[in-house]
Amino acid sequence: MKHILITGGAGFIGSHLAEYFLKKGDKVRIIDNLFTGREDNFKHLKKFESFSSVIDTVMNIPLMEELINWSDIIFHLAALVGVKLIMENPIKTIEDNIHSTEIVLELASKKNKRLMFTSSSEVYGKLDEKKLNEEDNSLLGPVSFSRWSYAISKIVDELLLKAYFKEKKLKGIIVRLFNVIGPRQTGHYGMVVPRLIEQSLTENRMTVYGNGCQKRSFTWIDDVVTAMDRLMETPQAYGEVFNIGHFKEITIYELAVMIKELAQSSSEIVLIPYQEAYEEGFEDVPRRMPDISKIQNLIGYKPEIYLPEMIQRIILEKKGLE
Ligand code: UDP
Repeated sequence: MKHILITGGAGFIGSHLAEYFLKKGDKVRIIDNLFTGREDNFKHLKKFESFSSVIDTVMNIPLMEELINWSDIIFHLAALVGVKLIMENPIKTIEDNIHSTEIVLELASKKNKRLMFTSSSEVYGKLDEKKLNEEDNSLLGPVSFSRWSYAISKIVDELLLKAYFKEKKLKGIIVRLFNVIGPRQTGHYGMVVPRLIEQSLTENRMTVYGNGCQKRSFTWIDDVVTAMDRLMETPQAYGEVFNIGHFKEITIYELAVMIKELAQSSSEIVLIPYQEAYEEGFEDVPRRMPDISKIQNLIGYKPEIYLPEMIQRIILEKKGLE
């Protein structure tokens, strides 16, 4: 039985990770400041005796020291996420995302604990010509657009983990997640799938930003969580960065049409200019599709669930039927 610590464990991904390890028979502790995490996300986990939660900030160093001492493995997910939320909170994004990672990395390294850091496909920025490979350059926009503060904070965190691996032999792994979706994800911070599904069920319009030709590839939460666990058990992965995502892509307009059909919705799909949806001069990412050969070669990763099935499942969840 392992002791698993999850920072940001009350978030969408963190709460699924917690559930996965509890079902495997491990002990799980989560820490979350509930800034975007929600008690609702983990209330069903309280029935497990091996589960405990701490509502506090990762910036509380004495507390983190205690939690990291207790743990065998740390999944560091605590961060501000969601394009909309990031643009509304640029100071907190930069300060929290960088400072919390500094603390976690330093303590994990001092106590010689294994650690996984969740980064994001956002670090590739606007690069769109092909499948994104871990060794590709980042192409970020100017600092005038606060959207990029998220990517930059994640890049600093990745570099810091790499530095700890190089200088202190930290057993750390970086994963770059590509548009993960699943039950309990909220649309409040901008995520397109829960937003469009909620709109299709309860509103008379579904909002597609820009011209809808931008493409994404969506990955089911269970595929991601399983891959994170398997990577963590693979010592060759230490010090490395891995994309986790799906090889199938779709335009956002096609996504809206698929959701409308599957939800049998009569809502109208409307195009909203970016400056109205976000701010003047907003830069979107035209395409974001991972090259998954690295993780495929190392652990045999292959996403199992395809988009129509993912959407069906989320519709049932939002309707309260699952
Ligand atoms: N988007 C949209 N309607 C919405 C929310 C988002 O058309 O209500 C678009 C957004 O502009 C982007 C895509 O959907 O092109 C994915 O957005 P999300 O914020 O989910 O993720 P990210 O941009 O980080 O991939």
